[in-house]
Amino acid sequence: MGAVSRGDARHERAIFVLLDGAGAKRLEGLVEKGELPNVARAFPHLGRAVTVFPSVTTVAYAPFVTGRFPGRNGIPGLRWFDRREYARSRLSLHRFRDYCGPGSYLVDRDLEPSAPTLYELVKPSMNVFGSVSRGAGPFRNALFFTRAAYAWRLRRTGDWRPIDARGELELVRAVARGHRFIFYAFLSVDGESHRFGPDDPRVIDAFRRFDATLGTLLATLEARGERDRTLLLLSADHGHSAVDRHLDLEGFFEKRGLRTLYFPRLVGANGRCDAAVMVGGNAMAHVYLPGPSGWATPPDETAIFRAHPTLVEDLLAEDAVHVVAWRGEDGRVHARGREGEVAIRLEDGAVLHRVVRGADPFGYANLSARASLAAHLGETLSGDYPDAPLQLAQLFSSVRTGDLVISARPGHDLRDRFEDPEHRSTHGSLHREHMVVPLLSSHPLDPGPARTVDVFPTVLSLLGEQPPDAIDGRALA
Ligand SMILES: [Zn+2]
Repeated sequence: MGAVSRGDARHERAIFVLLDGAGAKRLEGLVEKGELPNVARAFPHLGRAVTVFPSVTTVAYAPFVTGRFPGRNGIPGLRWFDRREYARSRLSLHRFRDYCGPGSYLVDRDLEPSAPTLYELVKPSMNVFGSVSRGAGPFRNALFFTRAAYAWRLRRTGDWRPIDARGELELVRAVARGHRFIFYAFLSVDGESHRFGPDDPRVIDAFRRFDATLGTLLATLEARGERDRTLLLLSADHGHSAVDRHLDLEGFFEKRGLRTLYFPRLVGANGRCDAAVMVGGNAMAHVYLPGPSGWATPPDETAIFRAHPTLVEDLLAEDAVHVVAWRGEDGRVHARGREGEVAIRLEDGAVLHRVVRGADPFGYANLSARASLAAHLGETLSGDYPDAPLQLAQLFSSVRTGDLVISARPGHDLRDRFEDPEHRSTHGSLHREHMVVPLLSSHPLDPGPARTVDVFPTVLSLLGEQPPDAIDGRALA
């Protein structure tokens, strides 16, 4: 026993806390004001990490338990479309997905089968409200059986407190049952932010409820004499920023005369749509277009520009659209904004970056033409779009990623018609308000720049386990 924070401390258990929607700046501000005494007590080591793009729930949960970016997890969006399935069968359940609804039960099925999860690698393990659960099984996945009932009650009352209380109960139970890895997500900061705006007192109340639950967790660990042997980590899937302008992106495509498939209407679900638009967050979107011979194969760059010569420029003429990206025929991902265009490629653990016209839309004047993943993060960390070139490029490694990917400008989102109630806060984009999240630890971590994919190998190595090969993260301890 004794000091927990010695470099050679062996932890018998790890508890990872995901504070959904808590951006780094907001959390740090509350800790500094003394509003979150248990956070300050539980985590002597305060740091930050950059999350993944898209910075949305579920998509940005998976990297914590697989160590991989979304493009390699098979879960590239909160909503997505799979052209192969759509071309193959009019009835397939897997033509398109919306994790906001019953699709949430299919996350584990969608997750890349070759990516082992922390639940599979560290046994016994328990998932309390995390959206990825593969390896925990339905009985170690709190809310697996009662999720629909809680969601229905929340929709009716708008009251998150019963969900928060149930989460605390499940967390304490998981500790008592001796689970070696526990993933615990606290959801109401995100919920209240969308509804009331990121600075509303009801959001601060949610943070305080979280802090009280953390107090209960610490007391439980202390009563059992287990606190020193337990690794505690806290991070988030994304931050939040205020929004008051909403683009109707689905309508943008309909107005061009395209039969457009989107949730919740699913016009053209029978195999006959001209475009599919999948918004998530709601500050990002995937747009899918048929190839010259139909939906089975994607259109290349030339085919997109031939069929839709002004589409990218028309999108960029909308104030809501900051960047449009696509796969170029040069094997690079191209990202165009009003300022100019860059071409990015990931190759052998390096990020290749080149300005191909005008200026970098992310504002980076002097990025290295070739940088290691770590160096790229360091070069972009303090800008408005940390890690953005890499994060855009990684997304295009999924076959479920759109032919065009859109990231919104701050203050805007992309789903005007379907926000009920209207969102007052948003996330999903590449902007730092959405991408920079806290990374707090009970154990000292490597002080260098971190990504949320680093949590996975860090948990494994602090538990004395070997992280698998072929992951995107690096151990921070
Ligand atoms: Zn979230």
